[in-house]
Amino acid sequence: MSFSFNLPVNLLFGAGCINEIGKRVGTFGKKALIVTGWGSTKKTGLLDRVSGLLAAEGLESQVYDQVKPNPTVPQVYEGVKALKDFEADFVLGVGGGSIMDAAKCIAFMGKNDGGLMDYVYGRKVSSEAFPVVLVPTTCGTGSEGNGFAVVTDPETGDKKSLRGTMIVAKLSIIDPELMTTMPRGVLAEVGFDVLCHCMEAFLSAAAIPVSDMYALTGIELVRESLLSLYTGKGGPAEWEKLSWASTLGGMSIGIAGLTAPHALEHPASGLRNLTHGRGLAALTVPVIERSIAAAPARFAEISRRLGGWNEKDCVVQVQELLAGLDLDIGLGSQGVKAEDVDWMAENAFKVSAAGIANNPVKFSLEEIKSIYHSAL
Ligand SMILES: [Zn+2]
Repeated sequence: MSFSFNLPVNLLFGAGCINEIGKRVGTFGKKALIVTGWGSTKKTGLLDRVSGLLAAEGLESQVYDQVKPNPTVPQVYEGVKALKDFEADFVLGVGGGSIMDAAKCIAFMGKNDGGLMDYVYGRKVSSEAFPVVLVPTTCGTGSEGNGFAVVTDPETGDKKSLRGTMIVAKLSIIDPELMTTMPRGVLAEVGFDVLCHCMEAFLSAAAIPVSDMYALTGIELVRESLLSLYTGKGGPAEWEKLSWASTLGGMSIGIAGLTAPHALEHPASGLRNLTHGRGLAALTVPVIERSIAAAPARFAEISRRLGGWNEKDCVVQVQELLAGLDLDIGLGSQGVKAEDVDWMAENAFKVSAAGIANNPVKFSLEEIKSIYHSAL
């Protein structure tokens, strides 16, 4: 066994821990650009609460609230302008995965010249970024626990991650109480995304013992919390479990990377702007069905953690969860068309080459087209 492991993220976890934000972020400077979305953090009062907690410690803040789901390069540049106009010292992302990823990109481009996609594709490299602080309000992407930031280039439809330790949050404040305001449909989608992160990290060719521990614990925690929260039975203990599973999922993919479900989802949502969790719901089963034979012991382990017996009932376990979450859906009902398949398959090799290479079965272009057709 040999591996390297470096994940320099400072996690603050626990119900009510948001109240410590003012005291915790002073080391990053006096002025925070708060990156958030249009609606929910304002409606729930969280944005005002965070601003107040910062002000109580003598910190100034300004809000950039133009980030939409599947954040784009132009939105990042707008945020960079806000950062520079305000002369902020650090970036504070308050929201779901799109918000956190946008906050990371804004912090990065605030320190770097040229085009963001040049860095995404590795044509340019930099280790410079403003400090990032993250406050997740959905338990899904796990962006608070890794150095990934997914961004979409609207000119090409390419949806791909900026990656590196420079955008790992200097502090992530994970307060399960903040997740409880999520609409039920969003909970289903982000919760399934958590499971995908954990399963894919565990199945990845780049998995190491540390990522396996995170991923398997995450799978168990999803099983113990997601459906009961979705059906209204769960309470604070389940919110805590799902929130921790989300962060563990983010950390596990930060180490081990992703495999084919995510590799195939990004082209679909890059092209048709469907939500990430719904795209994964359509693609995960067709990918698993074609991957089990290459890693039966790993699929058996996943199946057992989900309540099954062996690799043969892994698909059933995932299908039952999807049905329970009202996510037994295809890509077709979300706007993806059969004529999109060729573009998506080719784009998957462009934007997600690592995810395809990490999958237990290394799918060919034709096999990926076949998976997309099955998922329609
Ligand atoms: Zn994901």
